[in-house]
Amino acid sequence: MSGVQQPSRFEQDDQIVVMKFGGTSVEDSAAIKRLIQIVTRQQGIQPVVVVSALAGVTDQLLEAGRSASAGHLGSALNSVRNIYVRHEQIADSLLTGSAYAELERALRTDFQALESLLQEVETSRALDSTRQDQLLGFGECFSSRLVTAALCEAGCKAAHVDARSCIITDARHGQAGPLWDVTNRKIQEAVGSLLQAANVPVLGGFIASTADGVPTTLGRGGSDFSAAILAAALGALRIQIWTDVDGVMTTDPKLCSDARVIRKMSFDEAAELAHFGAKVLHPATLAPAMRENIPVHVLNSRNPEGEGTVIVARASRESRGVSAITAKRNVAAVEISAPQGVDSALLGKLFAVFDEHSCHVDVMGASLGRVSLLVGSTAALPEIAAKLRDHADVRWENHRALVCLVGENIRRDAEVASRVFATVADLDVRVLCQGASDRTISFLVEESKAQESVQRLHRVFFPNAEPVRDWGGISSAFCQAG
Ligand code: ADP
Ligand code: ASP
Ligand code: MG
Repeated sequence: MSGVQQPSRFEQDDQIVVMKFGGTSVEDSAAIKRLIQIVTRQQGIQPVVVVSALAGVTDQLLEAGRSASAGHLGSALNSVRNIYVRHEQIADSLLTGSAYAELERALRTDFQALESLLQEVETSRALDSTRQDQLLGFGECFSSRLVTAALCEAGCKAAHVDARSCIITDARHGQAGPLWDVTNRKIQEAVGSLLQAANVPVLGGFIASTADGVPTTLGRGGSDFSAAILAAALGALRIQIWTDVDGVMTTDPKLCSDARVIRKMSFDEAAELAHFGAKVLHPATLAPAMRENIPVHVLNSRNPEGEGTVIVARASRESRGVSAITAKRNVAAVEISAPQGVDSALLGKLFAVFDEHSCHVDVMGASLGRVSLLVGSTAALPEIAAKLRDHADVRWENHRALVCLVGENIRRDAEVASRVFATVADLDVRVLCQGASDRTISFLVEESKAQESVQRLHRVFFPNAEPVRDWGGISSAFCQAG
């Protein structure tokens, strides 16, 4: 970026905007140049920048950890060397002189630590969840240092902050939750003081640590959540999620090429969408934003002039029809039957055993002698079934997908449910669940039928002729007076 000097025009009294850039938005030097443009062209705000690891790096680190634990250290070290070369080449194209030398030194030290960690994993032949968090966090450490240096080179007063020193969590490795009071205080101290001096703080998303300093992560895709945690602690004006699509869409554009951008939606709808598998937002992101009433904008870093989606507190209680369709892929449906009946003691026992095995469950339904659950992985189910043997019979079916329609009050609209059923009835739909909230209708199908279900439903609820749905003038097929 030599020669592209931009004046730092951020003032300490401006309002704070937390800008999160996902993996594809920092994937190479062209993406990082776009990031610099996006950050520096904003006026009258104080940016706080949160970055994910470069696209693909977290998966590669995980794979390297698995190889090392299986005794294949050579292949693990080879893949982290490739990761090093990728960062080093980007640094080379964006930085000059001492800035390049300084970053290179920092990266080299981190990569040595990463190699030692992989050696430990190979020696112990185990990648436990504590070590896995330590390993995966390297991706965000590298990317955040790289982006800080690139912003500085472009004339921006950027300052790196280690997110692990200010986002403090419990010790649920792989899915840690923030300890809010200490986290808010530490963010206000570390990030707040940089903002006071009109710096642009840059943090790695996804990573955090326990109060004892042990590295944790917020779950896959967790950089969105980091942005919301920071925004809530700093009283930000808004959160911008910069990604590789034009906003939150009526469905995943990878599943259905007709998907269209939703211009405006409520926190509640977006939270349901994220919970039911829309990868565009990490499911925990909306809670802090909702609590502090901070609008979330989802924007495309490859098309920064686009309007994107704005997610705000809802106003109207009217039904506005189906706003989006999503699918939670590759889940297992668990049926638990208890001949003596399902009571609170049995439910308590069930949840305790699933929790003990870190097996996250979604409740699908309960009846007199039966509970239906949904889990993301079957790995722990044999042990769970053995532990519950004296209380209940546990069976499961693999390779299922939960297809979910989201929209304010759709559950109260009988016509929506009947149209859904009519559209997919021949696809061996197992359970049609009208969830606990009025905002969702979902059903289970075989994984191999997930895409077809979504495509059929999308054609029914978002026929091509329809304009993009907006709160200003909705013309959904299933609008109903409130
Ligand atoms: P990032 O690396 O920027 O965090 P992600 O891959 O985590 O990006 O999320 C963006 C992806 O989410 C899109 O490329 C898209 O395929 C997927 N996605 C799933 N559901 C939706 C949806 N309803 N609207 C937009 N994108 C969606
Ligand atoms: N890099 C992490 C992941 O791939 C976090 C994120 O991208 O938000 O899951
Ligand atoms: Mg993401």
